[in-house]
Amino acid sequence: MSVPPESALLERALYHALTYLGRLDEAPVAPVVSAEVLRARFDRTLPDRGLEPERILDDLVAAADGGLTGSPSGRFFGWVIGGTLPSAVAADWMTTVWDQTPGLHAVAPAAAMAEEVAGTWLKDLLGLPGDASFALVTGCQMAHATCLAAARHALLERRGWDVVEHGLSGAPRIRIVTSCEMHGSVTRAVRLLGLGSGSIERLPSAADARLEPDVLRAALASAPDRPTIVILQAGDIHTGAFDPFEELIAIAHEAGAWVHVDGAFGLWAAASPAFRHLMQGASAADSWATDGHKWLNVPYDCGYAFVAHPDPHRRAMTYRQDYLTHSDDVRDPMDWNPEFSRRARGFATWAALLELGREGVADLVDRCCRHAEALVSGIGALPGAEIVSPAQLNQGLLRFPSSNVGATEADHDARTDAVMAAVAATGEAMFTGSTWRGRRVMRVSVSNWRTSERDVSRAVAAFERVLGAG
Ligand SMILES: *Cc1c(COP(=O)(O)O)cnc(C)c1O
Repeated sequence: MSVPPESALLERALYHALTYLGRLDEAPVAPVVSAEVLRARFDRTLPDRGLEPERILDDLVAAADGGLTGSPSGRFFGWVIGGTLPSAVAADWMTTVWDQTPGLHAVAPAAAMAEEVAGTWLKDLLGLPGDASFALVTGCQMAHATCLAAARHALLERRGWDVVEHGLSGAPRIRIVTSCEMHGSVTRAVRLLGLGSGSIERLPSAADARLEPDVLRAALASAPDRPTIVILQAGDIHTGAFDPFEELIAIAHEAGAWVHVDGAFGLWAAASPAFRHLMQGASAADSWATDGHKWLNVPYDCGYAFVAHPDPHRRAMTYRQDYLTHSDDVRDPMDWNPEFSRRARGFATWAALLELGREGVADLVDRCCRHAEALVSGIGALPGAEIVSPAQLNQGLLRFPSSNVGATEADHDARTDAVMAAVAATGEAMFTGSTWRGRRVMRVSVSNWRTSERDVSRAVAAFERVLGAG
């Protein structure tokens, strides 16, 4: 074996990686440098001649310092952002070094096979039909796009329209029915597919953010002949709510609609015996989208699309060309994925699932939910805090009303934002806000294996100090 030319460089990268991870526990969790500082560090003159790789690496690490969000840390509770499991990071490093593009088995056999096996494991773990087709894509938004492309194909084919050949001009207009809580990534997927965001009808949801059967039934009855996609939610980003799948899917199917489930993080409830009931009936849907980079804790660039009807899925995605080398007897991921060349995402997923095992995935889900509960009730019990929505699954909502006499809703909103910012400034914990039903709220979201009870206590203590300071 010879020593490769990048040997010293990669050892230096390992040193930087371990230094970063080793400091996670003490480092501020929120970024601490401004855009101006970052620009000044990154925006140098592009050199005519290249630089020494080791110097570039050191410069990169120095330039990013303080500008990294501490999302790999257990004290990060913003948006919905998972951490990274050790074996997934290691597999991801190998993915980079191996540099495989798994569109075709013939191009990258091991990468294609890791995807085939990972997809099969995922269906089993998430309680989805064993004969569903799947694709490993960049994230949940592209999983939506993949699933909805299959839906579009199937619905129009039923009306004698070949969308692959003729596109959408002149096609029957597809209607998309969902609740007003729908995630924005669905809108973007709908836009990318040329269905038009104006085709989305947002129905009012109940107080707990669930879509009610009567509301859906009435909406579907209002235009019985239109090709229709019903989009349901497993895990609302505000309340964590799950739509009542059993009833809603039956109603949608009776009306001839395709049912797609957005379960970016919520689909993982199915992997836990304690939370599985929330997914009751969801396996009867026509397609499902979820993320790997959120709750499975694989590095970014990983989502999963599952489709109950392989035929329209394949026909919406497949592409054949003479210069490519297609396989007939093994799975070619390109038949199911929207991309041509892309990252070999299956290795990290395969590794993460092996590191956790069935019980480990369930335990990860349960632990995160327990921590979310402890955060919402712990912070919510402090003077100056108020629980807006108790923890459901791994999400919950809080608010910090102003104590000023005659304070208005705007004052409560401003105070809520100010408390979140003050806590982030302590470096101890980071949460992010939203506007829910007209009011500013702080979202609590836990989806990192690294989060511990100590992290939760540190976060609650940070709020206690900030709220106590008035
Ligand atoms: C994060 C999220 C998405 C989008 O997922 P990406 O991986 O960012 O594309 C969609 N739906 C819900 C509920 C989410 O939380």
